[in-house]
This record gives sequence, structure tokens and C-alpha cells, in this order.
Amino acid sequence: MARPQVIVAGAGPVGLLTALALAKQDIPVLVLEAEPGLTIDLRAGTYHPPSLEMMAPYGITDEMMKTAIKVPRWQIRDRKEGVVVEWDVSVISDVTPYPYRLHLEQHRLTPIIHEKLKTCAGVEVRFSHEVADVTQNADGVTVTASTPGGRERFEAGWLVGCDGGRSAVRKCAGVEFEGYTWPERFLVASTTDDYASRGYALNAYVSDPEEWVALFKMPDDGPPGMWRVIFPVPEDEDESRTLSADLVESRMQRFQPRSGAYPIKYKSIYKVHQRVAREFRVGRVLLAGDAAHLNNPIGAFGLNGGIHDAFNLAEKLGRVCRGEADASLLDLYVRQRRTVNLEYVQEVSIRNLKRLNEKSETERRKNFDELRRQAATRESQRQFLLVSSMIASIRRANAIT
Ligand SMILES: Cc1cc2nc3c(=O)[nH]c(=O)nc-3n(C[C@H](O)[C@H](O)[C@H](O)COP(=O)(O)OP(=O)(O)OC[C@H]3O[C@@H](n4cnc5c(N)ncnc54)[C@H](O)[C@@H]3O)c2cc1C
Repeated sequence: MARPQVIVAGAGPVGLLTALALAKQDIPVLVLEAEPGLTIDLRAGTYHPPSLEMMAPYGITDEMMKTAIKVPRWQIRDRKEGVVVEWDVSVISDVTPYPYRLHLEQHRLTPIIHEKLKTCAGVEVRFSHEVADVTQNADGVTVTASTPGGRERFEAGWLVGCDGGRSAVRKCAGVEFEGYTWPERFLVASTTDDYASRGYALNAYVSDPEEWVALFKMPDDGPPGMWRVIFPVPEDEDESRTLSADLVESRMQRFQPRSGAYPIKYKSIYKVHQRVAREFRVGRVLLAGDAAHLNNPIGAFGLNGGIHDAFNLAEKLGRVCRGEADASLLDLYVRQRRTVNLEYVQEVSIRNLKRLNEKSETERRKNFDELRRQAATRESQRQFLLVSSMIASIRRANAIT
């Protein structure tokens, strides 16, 4: 391929969407991915209405719908008392054509985007190309990648780092990743056992001072699908013990007793962070997705926020590449997306997790009273749902000039 205008580091969902949105504007793009193929990722699985709206013009949302699960109602519960509130996303059906959460594993989304990319001219995805070094001058960037054939150098006008939380691009650009790591880690166990028959909505967050739980029904390979169950893991618990069949089983049984062992298909453990890069742009280098920000997954804002970054950035970078706008337009991307990440994604995801793991009985009561107040009228439900579905964050970003 001739010199691309843009190099995208990382073929995760954010990198692939950024590349697709640029390619559809006839901008030549080269994607460099460290792994030998698309990764099988058990992390994200919940998509909010704005993300579905943004992906729809590319035919991605329709493709997702073929296997995804619609979740129009979701719950916040207490482990002992049961349902605190049940939210009905159709209350905001006047502001979105997708008034629900959509559940589909992240590793079923990336092949859909990759297939779309294959139909675009002027775009190439190179696997087993790990970005190792980045330099830039006034005219462009040079990216050095470790490849099976040794080190290779690539040149382009712009580089977008979508290479995840440990982003080499962010490190090469010398950008600090400000924030903190939660002491508790998250165990994700997936079972084919059914929770809907026990009254759980297809997405439920279960508060408890000792051991909160989050539940998500996922399509898996097809019916009957699979339930992902997330538990907190104490700081001092050894990872191999957490993932042992015995300990997974005892957590599952303690939460919902069942006769016979739980069928467990997958299990994994994650560290969870709240971090935002100090800069999203350093000259010709830009950051998007997890490379730019990380948050705990309660509320499902991480990938959704990254999807919003990808489309916001690609639209502006496309204009800059075509010479229709000055490079300073990219600073608007930074103002819009960094601001809403700080004000909204960080703030609300932290509040969501604290609501689940709150230990003080007084605070727990206060939280539940507040939630019930918000669920009491249609107008206050709307306000809650506009925030939890990320529509409010998009409106806030669009208002920044
Ligand atoms: C338990 C859990 C549940 C989650 N659930 C949700 C959810 O329901 N909804 C939601 O919105 N978010 C969720 N998230 C967050 C979500 O998974 C991430 O925000 C999302 O994966 C970010 O996508 P990305 O493309 O930015 O990064 P990644 O998915 O991390 O992709 C980065 C890509 O870059 C590649 N790469 C890394 N280094 C290099 C390099 N040096 N050179 C080239 N390539 C490189 C990697 O191999 C990878 O393919 C969850 C997270 C966790 C931990």
C-alpha cells in the first residue's frame, strides 16, 4: 500500500471502527495489530443507544441484531431484598430508535467490523505488527513495529492510538495516564444456567456490602445463550485460587443455590481502573478508546465511550486530511471527548460501583431511596435513563465548541 494518511494502532473495536469511518471517507488507513488475529475478548458486551445509532449507517448495527439480545428492562437489586428498581428503557423511545441495551460479546462485534473493512479500498489491517516506537515531526509520524520479519517502519500523516489500556502509543507520546486502580478485581464467570426464571432481568446489578454481583445475559453461540456473572475479588486473594473450580462454584452457589454444580463455560479475572490520559492529542498523535481512558465496567461505558471517540475523531480527522479544516479541529475532539469522559464516564461509573459495594447501611438506604425517587415519575425516570444510556454525554459533548 502507498503511504497511508493515517495509521491506527490496535485492531480492537475502537481501532477497527476508527479505520472504517476513515476508509468510508476515502482516507487511506493502515491498521497495525500486535496479535496474530482478532482477539477473543470476554470484556464488553453491552451497547447503549448512541453507539448503535453511530454504527447503524455502516450496516454494523443490523449485523449485530442478527445474534444480539435486546434488553429493554434492567434492574438494580439488593442481594437480600430483591428488586430495588427496574428501569424500562422504552421510556426514552422518543429520542432514540434503539430504546434498549443490546448484548453481544465484544469478540462477535470485531469480526463484523473487520468484514466491513475488507470491502473498503485503501485500507489494510496487518496482524502480528506490534507498535514499538513512535516519532513525529511537522510533516508526519513514523511508527516502528515488531513484525514476524523483524522491525519495520511505517510513515503516515497521523497516528491514532487505539491500542488499549497499556497503549504503547500513549507511552511513546509521553502522556500520563492519571487516575487509580481499584483494590478489588473482578471475576467474570459464564454459565448456561438460567437466571431469568429466578426473576432476574437480562441485565441486573445486585448490591451487597459483602459481595455484590452483576449479571448479563449474552447470546454465546446461540440459544439458550449464557449468563455472565461478575463478582468482586478481595485484594489479597490469590488469582489461581479465584479461578479454581471450587472457589468459582462456591461464589455461584452462595449467590444462587442450585442443586448440582454450575456449568461454567468461561472464567476470567480483571484489574479495574479509573484513568484518563492527560492529553488525547500530542501533535500528530491522537488517542482513543481504552488507550485514552479506562473505567470500571459497572454501567458499560468503556467500549461505548470508545465507540463515541472513534466516530467523533474520524469525522474531524477526515476533514483535516482532506484539507477542509485546520489541524486545530482535532483539539475540539479532545475538548469534547476528554471532557465527557471526566465529567460523565468517570463520575457515573464510580458512582455505580460505589452503589453496589457500599458498606454503610445508612448510605445503602440513602442510595436505594434516591433510586426509588428517580423511578417514581416518568420525567425523573427519563432523566436517569438519558444519563445511564449515555445520551446525556453525547448531548454534553456536542454542546462543547
Ligand atoms: C469485565 C469487563 C467488562 C466490560 N464490559 C463492558 C461493557 O459491557 N460495555 C462497554 O462499553 N465496555 C465494557 N468493558 C470495557 C471494554 O472492554 C473496553 O473499553 C474495550 O475493549 C476498549 O476497546 P479498545 O478497542 O479501545 O481496546 P481493546 O479492546 O483493548 O483493543 C486494543 C487492541 O490493541 C492491540 N494492541 C495492544 N498493544 C498494541 C501495540 N503495541 N501495537 C499494536 N496493537 C496493539 C490489542 O491486541 C487489541 O487488539 C468491560 C471491561 C471489562 C474488564
